[in-house]
Amino acid sequence: MTTETASRVPTEPHHELDALESAAAELEGRPLSAFRTVGEPARELRERAAELGAEGLVQRATLLQAGVLLREGRTGEGGQLAHQVRVWAEQHEDHYLLARTHRELSVFYRHVGDFSDSLAHALQGVAFLTDDVPPSLRARHLMTLSVSLDDTGSHADGKVRAQEALMLAVEAGDHEVTSSVLNNMAYTAVEIGDEPEARMLVGQMRELQARTGYRFTANELDTMAQVELMGGRYGAVEELLSPVLADLVAANEGDAVAECQLTLSQARRLAGRYEAAQEALDATRAVCTERGLAGIGARVRQEQAALYADTGRFAEAYEEHRAFHAAATALQSVQRDARARALQAVFEANEARRASEHFREMAHRDALTGLYNRRYVNERVPALLMESAARRRPVSLAIVDLDHFKRVNDTLSHATGDTVLQHVAELLEEAASGSAFAARMGGEEFLLVYPGVDAEEAATRCERLRLRIRAHGWEPITGTLAVTTSIGITTAPEGRSTFSAMLSAADRNLYAAKRSGRDRVVSG
Ligand code: GH3
Ligand code: MG
Ligand code: MG
Repeated sequence: MTTETASRVPTEPHHELDALESAAAELEGRPLSAFRTVGEPARELRERAAELGAEGLVQRATLLQAGVLLREGRTGEGGQLAHQVRVWAEQHEDHYLLARTHRELSVFYRHVGDFSDSLAHALQGVAFLTDDVPPSLRARHLMTLSVSLDDTGSHADGKVRAQEALMLAVEAGDHEVTSSVLNNMAYTAVEIGDEPEARMLVGQMRELQARTGYRFTANELDTMAQVELMGGRYGAVEELLSPVLADLVAANEGDAVAECQLTLSQARRLAGRYEAAQEALDATRAVCTERGLAGIGARVRQEQAALYADTGRFAEAYEEHRAFHAAATALQSVQRDARARALQAVFEANEARRASEHFREMAHRDALTGLYNRRYVNERVPALLMESAARRRPVSLAIVDLDHFKRVNDTLSHATGDTVLQHVAELLEEAASGSAFAARMGGEEFLLVYPGVDAEEAATRCERLRLRIRAHGWEPITGTLAVTTSIGITTAPEGRSTFSAMLSAADRNLYAAKRSGRDRVVSG
C-alpha cells in the first residue's frame, strides 16, 4: 500500500470502526496508574463513535469515562455513568461490557461504603467475563473481587481470588497488577495482624522489583513500611518512605503521600524521635489541609494526641484527643451525606431513565398494531445505514402493502379492517426474526428492515411472508374475502445508500408488483 492510500485510511468508515475498536481495547487495557491519560481519548472516542452510530463503542467509551471519574473521586458522577452503561449492556446482552460495568459498580459501592453491594457487583464482574478476555483484564476483575471479599470480612475467600489474580497477572507479565495484588494481600495481612504472612508477601514484591525493575507506587511503599512498623524496624520505615517524601514516586492516588507521612510520623514517635515525629506530622497536616483530606486529617489529630502523651504533655494530649473525636464524628456524618448524595444521584438517574424510556417507547410505537411507527424508522434507519456502510454490510428493505384493502373496509367494516391490520402486524413481527424489524408506515402500508441481509435472502424471506399471509386463517374474520399483499424490495449491498433513496426504490418495485397483478414480490 502506498503512503497516499495509507493516509486516507482513517476516512474509510470500515477501517475507522476497526481502528476505534482497537483504540477502545487499548484504553481498557491501560495500566491502572495511568487512569488520568484515559479521560480525553475516551471522550473523543465516544464522540466519534456517536457520529458513526456505533452504539456499542459509545457505551464502552462512556464506561471508560465512568472509571476515570470514580478514580478521580467524582463518585456520584462516575456511578451514574456506570449505571447507564449497565442498562444498555443488559438490554443488549453484551457480556464483555457487563463484566466491565459490574467491576466499576463494585468500585463505586466500595467508595460509598456499601460493601455488600460492592461484593455483589464484583461477583458479577467475574461471572460475566467471557473466555476471550486477556488474562491481565481477568486478573483485575479477580483482584476487585478479592478486595470486596476482604472488605466484607471473608478473608479466606478473598485470598483464594487474590491468588488466582496473581497467577494470571504473572502469566500475563503484567507487573503492575502483580504488584498491586501482592500489595492488597499484604495490606490485609497487616490489618489482621499476620506479620509473617505480610513479610512473605512484601518479600515477593521485592523479588518482582529485583527481577523486572518495577517501580513501587506510594501506596505500595506505605504498605511495606507498615509491615516494618509492625516489626518495630523504624529505620526501615524511614528508608522506604524517603523517596515518596522527596517526591521521587508518582503518587497514584490523591491521599497516598499523606498516608506515607503519617506512617513515618508514627514510626518516629515509636522510635522515641519526638521532634522528627512532630515534623512529619506537621507536614501531614499541611498536605491534608491543602488537599481537603478529611479522613487522614482526623487521624493526624489522633497521632498528635499520642505524641503529646508520649512526651508527657497530658493536658494537650487530652485536648487533642477530644478534637480527634469531634473530627471523627463530623467526618462520619460528612461521609454519610456524601454517600447518600452519591446513591441518590444514581437512583434519580435510574428513575429518570425509566420514565424517559417509557415515553420514548410510547412515542415509537403505533397504537393500533404495536409495531414501530414511522418516527422510529426515521430515527433508526439512517443510523443503521451509517453503521452498515462503515462495516460494508448489506441492508435490505421491503414495503408491504395490502391488496385491495378498501374492499375489506367497504364490504365488511372499518373495525374488521382494523382486525386484519392487527393480524398482518403479528405475521410481520413473526417474519422479522433476528436483527430484522417491522414497522407500520401508515394506513395499510408496512416496512420491513433487514440489517445484514442481501438481496437474495431478502427475496426468499419476503416470498415466504407473502405466502404465510395469504395462507393465514382469514375465514373467521373476512369470510370469503382473501387477504393478500404486494411487496417491493430493495437492497444496498454494502449499506451505501440513503433511507429516502431506498424507500423510493422499494416503492417503485411495489408499484410494479401492483401493476403486474398484485399478491407478489418484486425486487432488483
Ligand atoms: P391497492 O391494492 O392498490 O393497495 O388497493 P388498496 O385498496 O389497498 O389501496 P388504497 O391505498 O387506495 O387504500 C388503502 C385503504 O386503507 C384506504 C383506507 O380506508 C384504509 N385504511 C387506512 N388506514 C386504515 C386503518 O387504520 N384502519 C382501517 N380499517 N382502514 C384503513
Ligand atoms: Mg393497499
Ligand atoms: Mg396503500
